Amino acid sequence: MLKSNKKTFLGLLVIGLLIAACSTVPVTGRRQLNLIPGSQLNAMSFSQYDEFIKSHKLSGNVAQTNKVKNVGRKIQGAVERYFADQGDPGRLRDYKWEFNLVEDSAVNAWCMPGGKVVVYTGILPVTKDETGLAVVMGHEIAHAIANHGNERMSQGLIALTGGVALSKALENKSKETQDLFLAAYGVGAQVGVLLPYSRVQESEADHLGLIFMAMAGYDPRQAVSFWERMAAGSKGAPPEFLSTHPSDQTRIEKLKAEIPEAMTYYKP
Ligand SMILES: [Zn+2]
Repeated sequence: MLKSNKKTFLGLLVIGLLIAACSTVPVTGRRQLNLIPGSQLNAMSFSQYDEFIKSHKLSGNVAQTNKVKNVGRKIQGAVERYFADQGDPGRLRDYKWEFNLVEDSAVNAWCMPGGKVVVYTGILPVTKDETGLAVVMGHEIAHAIANHGNERMSQGLIALTGGVALSKALENKSKETQDLFLAAYGVGAQVGVLLPYSRVQESEADHLGLIFMAMAGYDPRQAVSFWERMAAGSKGAPPEFLSTHPSDQTRIEKLKAEIPEAMTYYKP
């Protein structure tokens, strides 16, 4: 009797946790499950990011580095203004934005939770100009703003621990959470290839990325040309960015269909 009461209690606790952990992606309004407290996720992210920066060479090209930082700050500012306008100015308070250009021939870029953005010099010939850079950085920043890493880890956590062990796994710095993070970002960040996001998350990052670049004053129509250049460059050895971001015709068509919406946010 006592035992089943305890079970019921734990069951209710888990349901309560799941409801509390349900959040909404900005702009798209999609409901998602984020089980890991933002502060905990960011702490893991920041230490992994520091490791990465320590073990990689930053670009010595001042003009290119400044361009990356400039585009990043513009998008950051636009996103912050958006949340302030929505009456949620504290939404990104745990973010510690950083935008770095790393000397590496890989065609790659990523953003870790909490706003740590890295662009590789190898992607610059494909981005071509500041607007092209805004396409890539807007997309990567969108993954972070939409909490895709948390969502992916939360799904992993449920698969891994099942129902009742969940609250245990959520304890600060629990091994399960740490392992999931390392699987997604840790070891991946060392070699520069993060685990691929789901298709739903990729489409969502494309959609939000278009809107974020437009809000920051970059013409979202240029996104189509960027992905076409990416597709053209995929002949031969597939670049790292493409292996996680297949730039097939479906993706490009979907982007085209989202341009009119993004244009409503565009302030040149
Ligand atoms: Zn992506």
